[in-house]
Amino acid sequence: MLDVYKFDSGSEGPNVLILGAIHGDEVCGPKAMARVIEAFEAQDLVLLKGAVTFIPVCNPKAYEQNVRFVDRNLNRYMSPISAPRVYEDDLTNFLCPYLRQADVLLDIHSYFVGGAPFIFVDGARSPDIPFAKSLGPDHMVYGFTQAYQNADEADSKEAALEAMGTTEYMVQFGGYGVTLECGQHQDPQSVVVAERAIYNGLKFLEMIEGDVQNTSNVELVRVEKVFYAEDTLALSDSWVHLQPIKQGTEIARYEDGRVIAAEQDCVIFLPRACAQPGQELFYLGQIED
Ligand SMILES: [Zn+2]
Repeated sequence: MLDVYKFDSGSEGPNVLILGAIHGDEVCGPKAMARVIEAFEAQDLVLLKGAVTFIPVCNPKAYEQNVRFVDRNLNRYMSPISAPRVYEDDLTNFLCPYLRQADVLLDIHSYFVGGAPFIFVDGARSPDIPFAKSLGPDHMVYGFTQAYQNADEADSKEAALEAMGTTEYMVQFGGYGVTLECGQHQDPQSVVVAERAIYNGLKFLEMIEGDVQNTSNVELVRVEKVFYAEDTLALSDSWVHLQPIKQGTEIARYEDGRVIAAEQDCVIFLPRACAQPGQELFYLGQIED
């Protein structure tokens, strides 16, 4: 169903899984992985221990059409589905066994707004932090699951299932994983970020030769709440990803005049003025010291 490239050193070590194009319009992962796979196949790159599995295009139909998904967001409800109904259900069932077996996951994405690359981590002191710090980007972000549960009118059980993406699913089986957001979808630099992260991650795990190339000053952001787009709701300013917002500032406004304002000093995260009703419009969070 999906193309899988596995390289096994034959020696004991971590079982690493690297995923790309979970969202079909995010091309940096497949492009970066193509280069790394080529290096392994040419034996320019030698695996010292453990095994690494690449699945460059996790949503092939969406990738062909250059769309985020065909029927539903593949990075939600990531848990085996006994009666698959839509295309992404079948992909979910294909991916889950790989996620269960992985010790370390690097899930490579890009996003729709401009701004610096960042990494979704599990928590402020979670075991994925040292790995995440090695990858290159300056910003690490956590609290995603809680942010969905904090959404207005959220059904907490449904929200928890909805927030179950690749990393949330795999950590239940003893591994750790991060989601790397490499930059804007069309930005050629996102491929560079992705490729550097793959090399850095494998070096950090001592699976390939070389030192981690990372001079970054990592900042940790706790995302607290997601806000969804509605027909009658518009952003009040052209917010920029990770822009600080003062308490009381109007962030978005409904047609009837009701306002969403910052309840405290915060940062806006992934604002998306063109979000369709029901999609994420923006998140609010805090930078931790
Ligand atoms: Zn994505």
